[in-house]
Amino acid sequence: MQVSTHTKLFFSHLLAVVLVSGSIGTYFYASAIDNLRNSLQSRLLNSAAMLSEVFSASELGELRSATDTALPVYSRLTQRLRKLANTNPDIAFVYIMRRAGDRAVFVLDSDPLEPALPGEVYQQQLPALMKGFYQPSVDAQITTDKWGSFLSGYAPLHDAKGEYLIGLDMKADDVAQKMYLLKQAGVISLVVSLLLAVLFSGLLARHFNSRIYALVQRCNDIARTQLKPSGPQRVGDELHRLGRTVDAMAEHLEHSRLQSEQIQRELEASQQELEARVQQRTAELLTANEKLREEIRERERIEAVLQQTARTDYLTQLPNRRAMIQILDKEAARYERSPNPFSLVLLDIDHFKHINDTFGHDSGDEVLVCIADCMRGWMREKDVLARWGGEEFLILLSDTDVDAASEQAERLRAAIESETFRLQQGETRITASLGVAGYTPQHDIDGCIKDADIALYRAKSGGRNRVVTHRPSDPPYGA
Ligand code: GH3
Ligand code: MG
Ligand code: MG
Repeated sequence: MQVSTHTKLFFSHLLAVVLVSGSIGTYFYASAIDNLRNSLQSRLLNSAAMLSEVFSASELGELRSATDTALPVYSRLTQRLRKLANTNPDIAFVYIMRRAGDRAVFVLDSDPLEPALPGEVYQQQLPALMKGFYQPSVDAQITTDKWGSFLSGYAPLHDAKGEYLIGLDMKADDVAQKMYLLKQAGVISLVVSLLLAVLFSGLLARHFNSRIYALVQRCNDIARTQLKPSGPQRVGDELHRLGRTVDAMAEHLEHSRLQSEQIQRELEASQQELEARVQQRTAELLTANEKLREEIRERERIEAVLQQTARTDYLTQLPNRRAMIQILDKEAARYERSPNPFSLVLLDIDHFKHINDTFGHDSGDEVLVCIADCMRGWMREKDVLARWGGEEFLILLSDTDVDAASEQAERLRAAIESETFRLQQGETRITASLGVAGYTPQHDIDGCIKDADIALYRAKSGGRNRVVTHRPSDPPYGA
């Protein structure tokens, strides 16, 4: 069950007030009752002691039985008793008793309506009564007998020597009335103090609750970051200190919030700056990349041109010796995979020096270009023609055995022989000598070239303008 702080405060305070005021009230009520009883007893005791002086034992000797009521002394003394009884409204009856063993016997009684007669034994056995024959005494409690309920005081007659006493009865109703009034006052003060306790507990609980509520309100404001300064507060107590702590906390929170906002702004600014720099750098990198790619493309193009240039004869635009060696190596490798025969033809222009000498070196170049064109036109698609050096050309005839190559070479020789070359300086005719060799796997590509060279040498030495074919039975190069 949820119990609010307001309720707890109210009831705890109320309980504390009720407990304190109840115990104090009970104490004072008990002591007031005690005081009242003591005061009544003391008054009874004093009155009895005082009245004991009024009567003398010597006057009472004749009054022994009910018949003695006719005696004049009885009337006289009874009258005196009644007068005495009437002097104090608190006193109900006054009587004189004589001791008879452990009992008390009436001698005189002030009761006008139902008086105890001389010689009547009192039925109650009261210690205080018996004590009263010797010294003043008083009932501890209210005693009830046939005349009613009373609180009584006793005192021995001054000359009785323990034989006579005088007694006074105070009506219990009066005592009870006095007790009742005291009780009523106690109850009224209890009720009033209860009401006051309820009122003050309520006010106290409301006061603290309102301050706690104000603190809760303040904390809610802080939670919603409405960090305005709090209103004036009562100073000094714990709630005030709590309020001050909440304020300090709010200030600290506000300070932290402002700081974190500032940091956030700086972070965003640096992030934007970083993004801008990244974008700029990316753009720069893209441009640099594009430039680099362009440069690479240009270099590749130049390299391709250079490679082409390095592999091409500048004059005739035919593959040069280096390119031809690579082509031949590839052809030899291909042969390993698929042994289709191929052959080489080495061609050397006859008496080329003479042309140079006759027409000049430029005309010699012209002849070289013309003969290259002539051979290019004669060649098949799959054949390769290269300038081998000076006025020498090397021809690779693919899928061609040595005999077919020999025939082809002869046709080429004849074609060159029949051609008229038109130079700037005039017309000329030339012849060429050709050496033919077929490739064999036992004999690598260098050997094959050398065989063609031997055959060419033999063609030259045989008179030029002819084709000589190297046969496997021919002695090898240098033999
Ligand atoms: P042979 O019939 O024995 O082959 O006689 P030849 O004159 O052709 O032979 P030789 O080797 O003695 O002379 C070749 C000449 O070719 C020498 C050289 O000046 C010339 N020559 C080499 N390369 C070029 C060139 O690129 N252009 C020109 N114009 N002449 C060249
Ligand atoms: Mg030569
Ligand atoms: Mg020559």
